[in-house]
Amino acid sequence: MKLSQRIQTVKPSPTLAIAAKAKTMRAQGIDVISFGAGEPDFDTSQHIKDAAIKALQEGFTKYTPAGGIDELKEAIVEKLQRENRVQYQKEQIVVSCGGKHSLYNLAQAILDQGDEVIIPAPYWVSFPPIVILAGGRPVTISTSEEEGFKLSPEALEEAISPKTKAVIINSPSNPTGSAYTRAELEELADATLKHNIYIISDEIYEKIIYDGFEHVSIASLGEKVKDITILVNGVSKTYSMTGWRIGYTAGPREVIEGMTRIQSQSTSNPTSFAQKGALAAFQGTQEEIPIMVEEYQRRRNLIWELLTSIEGVSCYKPLGAFYVFPGIGNYLGKNFKGKKIEDSSQLTSYFLDEARVAVVPGVDFGAEGYLRLSYPISPEVIQEGIKRIREALAGLD
Ligand SMILES: *Cc1c(COP(=O)(O)O)cnc(C)c1O
Repeated sequence: MKLSQRIQTVKPSPTLAIAAKAKTMRAQGIDVISFGAGEPDFDTSQHIKDAAIKALQEGFTKYTPAGGIDELKEAIVEKLQRENRVQYQKEQIVVSCGGKHSLYNLAQAILDQGDEVIIPAPYWVSFPPIVILAGGRPVTISTSEEEGFKLSPEALEEAISPKTKAVIINSPSNPTGSAYTRAELEELADATLKHNIYIISDEIYEKIIYDGFEHVSIASLGEKVKDITILVNGVSKTYSMTGWRIGYTAGPREVIEGMTRIQSQSTSNPTSFAQKGALAAFQGTQEEIPIMVEEYQRRRNLIWELLTSIEGVSCYKPLGAFYVFPGIGNYLGKNFKGKKIEDSSQLTSYFLDEARVAVVPGVDFGAEGYLRLSYPISPEVIQEGIKRIREALAGLD
């Protein structure tokens, strides 16, 4: 029996696939260093775990409202007001099973067949498939390392067509770590407001920022831009809660109502006790966040310095998130044992097979000639991993 045409249009998440291959090699006793997986290496805080355990013990184990419990929505409203300076009503919030699920349901709720969504590249691997699975068409705009991998208002306006439904802004960005300043967001907001489209603002890395950078939520730039912005965030990265699967969306009521309706007919509610854990994350101490960010910043400095000291490798210095996106174009077209390495995917395979290092090819993020390395790993492992990469590159001729 044939599978649907819809499913033929998507492949599994390449980042998860590479992480899985590295894991398999490790299970075979091969010492692999993985820069593949995009998740924090810190554990979830004890007070968050305790809240979920308490919820379980108190029998909070049944269905909840499809869009999440009121208490959690209220905590999210408070958080958005306190930290992001945007005012929402509880009816403008929906809690989903992770930020990825928020984006998935959002696409299902706003896109018709053939609707276009503008996605600046390099982009997070899941943006295009999420649009495609909703019948939409991703329209990618390349941005360059020289312009800090940022979308200009001119390029945005040029890409807008009568079919455009939304533009996705992911700041700080996975995979580049680039982030927009307030002034840049104002320009993008002004450009967008001339057209009848939504801004989807993925702010999952808002807290993981360096060198005193200020994260600005584009929705906070005024009522008009707030009305067209759909803000997506979650607890995965800030609170090291990737496995808990709690994300949320804030936006226009009709969008939120649509997403909630989709959830009511698909996943029902986000897991009851995970919601209690997320509630504790928002209401409990935030003291651990700067400590974690400081550690990420140390590792960013280390990996960036190591990479940029390799001859022929360029690297944008990230302002946020926990990835680096080095340019390795100078090495493409070189040979290993007489076999030509043509593109970033082949380079990635070479690294894994010959140097036992897992990285993700830039092509999966819409940028050939680059690699993505995720650095929530210990400094010693970063040192060893980059040493292997340096040697592997030196082994090409
Ligand atoms: C990790 C990530 C998300 C959401 O992750 P969840 O675990 O599903 O909450 C969303 N956007 C980007 C760019 C990410 O890297």
